[in-house]
Amino acid sequence: MGIPDEDVARVRAATDIVALVGEHAALKRVGQRWVGLCPFHTEKSPSFSVNAEHGFYHCFGCQTSGDAISFVRAMEHLDFVDAVRRLADKAGITIREDGDGGKGNQKRKIFLDAMELATEWYHHRLLTGEDAGLARDYLRSRGYDGEVVRRFRLGWAPDGWDTLCSALKLSDDVAIGSGLGFVNKRGRLQDAFRARVLFPICDPSGNPVALGGRVLPGSSDPAKYKNSMETPIYSKRRTLYALNWAKKDVIASGEVVVCEGYTDVIGFFEAGIPRAVATCGTALAEEHVKLLKNFATRVVLAFDADGAGQTAAGRFYEWERKLEIDVAVAALPPGSDPADLARSDPEALRVAVSGAKPFLQFRLERILDAADLTTPEGRARAADHALAAVAEHPDDLVRDQYVMQVAERCRLEPASLRDRLERIRREGPRTPPTKADRTQARPAPPSDDRDPRGYDDLGDPGDEPEWDEWDDGPGLVSGLQRTATMEFRPGLEALRLAIHRPEEVGDRLEAALFSDPVQRAAFVALVESDDLGEAIDGASGHVQAMLVRLTVEEPRSEPDEVVAQLVRDTVRRELPVLTVEARTSPEAMHEAAEVAGWLQDLDGSTTSAEASRRLVAWILVRAQLNGSGQVA
Ligand SMILES: [Zn+2]
Repeated sequence: MGIPDEDVARVRAATDIVALVGEHAALKRVGQRWVGLCPFHTEKSPSFSVNAEHGFYHCFGCQTSGDAISFVRAMEHLDFVDAVRRLADKAGITIREDGDGGKGNQKRKIFLDAMELATEWYHHRLLTGEDAGLARDYLRSRGYDGEVVRRFRLGWAPDGWDTLCSALKLSDDVAIGSGLGFVNKRGRLQDAFRARVLFPICDPSGNPVALGGRVLPGSSDPAKYKNSMETPIYSKRRTLYALNWAKKDVIASGEVVVCEGYTDVIGFFEAGIPRAVATCGTALAEEHVKLLKNFATRVVLAFDADGAGQTAAGRFYEWERKLEIDVAVAALPPGSDPADLARSDPEALRVAVSGAKPFLQFRLERILDAADLTTPEGRARAADHALAAVAEHPDDLVRDQYVMQVAERCRLEPASLRDRLERIRREGPRTPPTKADRTQARPAPPSDDRDPRGYDDLGDPGDEPEWDEWDDGPGLVSGLQRTATMEFRPGLEALRLAIHRPEEVGDRLEAALFSDPVQRAAFVALVESDDLGEAIDGASGHVQAMLVRLTVEEPRSEPDEVVAQLVRDTVRRELPVLTVEARTSPEAMHEAAEVAGWLQDLDGSTTSAEASRRLVAWILVRAQLNGSGQVA
């Protein structure tokens, strides 16, 4: 169910973001921006800023940011498509879905209505039907009382050909379109489910969109579970069972538990962990994780992640980086499943969730626990296995911390393990590089030289709210960080100028002037896009977040000043390299002297522009020589 890009653009263009945000927060005009108390976190002084012209918001307090669509998504917990629909309705715009000019919307409504009626009908049948006695007995035997049955709207599909379709007088179109029925070989409409206990599967707003059916014990039907087929209202890759009920606790805790079965989910709820969801007969897919990301940033896997293996590991790390979530694994006792554990030992289930470990930690412990660590040979073998798992992680800082663990457990020198790890990464089996690996815009790994405040020393922050750290938490080397960050501050101011006063600064900036990889990627995105919106849409992760923030920040410095500072910083980083070359090369010595002269000229009032031009040209040549488009 895609919405064409141009329709999304029309909806964005037709939306007044100030009015939209204004429904949730009082905004006051300050200069080019609108500011107010943040609707996403509690605060006393306004940190929330909206750029009406470009249509973006940013909160300096809780760091949330985005456009009208993400605002609606966050405020109303909707997915992208629903948020666009909501805004389109508001703006009186008809959007095409699957290119059908709005008919798709009407159909969806009809199918959703049919599904709601059927869910209620099946539920009522389970509670009161004479033919549902065995089903009720079965549920009772699983420990499900009337409260559970009502809470999850469980149902009973009678053992008949078309009991539901004829009771609800469903037309062929509606029955088939909603997945409630199908036309059998004799050309007659038949119920999709018969003689099964039903688990309604809802969208995040609680509308039933599909059903999962389980046979009763002793049934001759070989398929224990059966789900609705995919329909215009149900895509299993985008649907998570019970998210509608779990949503509240997921948001409150920032964590979601993902399990494999409907009864596992119910087990978690019964054990007092009402933030569990399940995939519906499919492996956890990126679409699922994107959906979850609207509600929580930590995903706890409560299934046999061990069996998921290496392919899954690559996917989890990719999601962690790309979607900025944490993937952890609940430490379930071996061989147990959550549904059984919830009944036999609910406390163990709670402990498993609260003690969930990062995916790599979990794998490492499995490997080391299974290894023979009593002999040198055994420890070396265990270290090799463990390093193979560590090698899959894309972040070198993360890898190194696990190397230390392996070193300690296997009583080996970290230095030799590091060499071995690098060799495995070079030669060993590894997952194919991700898209993010191949592009320059790769935001990870976190660099601790990123400006933690945002405001640079060129401008006076005045009474502006201060920025917190970018995204990566406290710097790893806070002592060194202070001096390192000073150098990067003009980079942000240059980006502000490139966004707000592009005509004044545009052709005077070069990617090679940005030493911070995220700032450089942001600059490249701006240069390579037709407009700011396109640059933001196309950017990923940290880069996108940075660009959005800068749209609500006005530059305080003059372009000349900022360009000069950037040039100065870049030259000062590159000059020592040249000085080393000068020891053996007379040309390099001459060049170094010349560059040093221009650097002095840069501070002169009359010579500054020319010196700047020469230095930028020199930087570009050096960057080209380095082959990376960057200098030191
Ligand atoms: Zn906020």
